[in-house]
Amino acid sequence: MFLAVLLATGFIWNELSDEKTSSAKSLQTPSTEKFTKAVEVEPSAEVTPPVEVAQPVENVPQSDQFIIANQDFSNLQLYEYNKPVYDSYGFWQRQEGGMATVIPDLQPYYGEHIVYLTFDDGPDNKNTPQILDILRNENVPATFYVLGAMVEKNPEVLKRIFNEGHAIGNHSYNHNYNELYSSPWNFIEQFQRTDEIIMSQIGVRPLIIRAPGGTYGAFNQDYWDMVKSSGYVEHDWNVSSGDATPKGATASEEINNIISQINTYNFKSAIVLMHSTAAKDETVKALPDIIHFFKERGYTFGVITPMTPTPW
Ligand SMILES: [Zn+2]
Repeated sequence: MFLAVLLATGFIWNELSDEKTSSAKSLQTPSTEKFTKAVEVEPSAEVTPPVEVAQPVENVPQSDQFIIANQDFSNLQLYEYNKPVYDSYGFWQRQEGGMATVIPDLQPYYGEHIVYLTFDDGPDNKNTPQILDILRNENVPATFYVLGAMVEKNPEVLKRIFNEGHAIGNHSYNHNYNELYSSPWNFIEQFQRTDEIIMSQIGVRPLIIRAPGGTYGAFNQDYWDMVKSSGYVEHDWNVSSGDATPKGATASEEINNIISQINTYNFKSAIVLMHSTAAKDETVKALPDIIHFFKERGYTFGVITPMTPTPW
């Protein structure tokens, strides 16, 4: 099979704006030798931008707000549900350094009625900050599945999500179904590219991903195998606000959608799908009441980690 070999280090993807390029460059550390490597990607009809491999992080962020995976992922069997988990190594750094690249099977954490609020497709610079304000006022954590292309536009919002103790998940680079679901390789390349973009901003990367549109009808076994062998854990959702239906939903419809699904299924582990994009004003309006509903029902609020149970 013909493989295009792209030298990964030293390229700056030429679609990056000048501003983003200079900020990405300024975050690189001078020590590049150890992690210079070739990245093999299958050729596609369009020119694939080279993956810019993040440089080794000299000062991995330390905090008791989150957990950093160790070299063999042996510290990920957790018994808490509200601490985000990140990796200070990229996939290629793990492979190059002889570290584990596949997360071992973990015993899922089943608590009593935990709700995981998730916000996809951001970060934007209009509604995501408002969502963060509401979460802060309500003192609850959430999980944001971000797009690489949106992180490039709004890196400060990504940093705010990170600094305020929420979990960040990877939701592909551009959400383009035709590209993502043309092959498992094209799918995973977008996630690895997005990892590098996230690492260039916060020094760590997510291990949790969500497939755009969800895996149902989109994944076959080859995709699941690729996700696992690339060291990710995928989570769809089991409760939908309906904020991405074609005609949209009003705030009260979103609240009613959620209440009726919880009343029907009484999930012990409820993973709620919402979106944090500029178009989702109704989700911002609905969010305080959604949070109050779950508090009144006795739910506690968690963040998605590699050991969060898959929703179905
Ligand atoms: Zn999405």
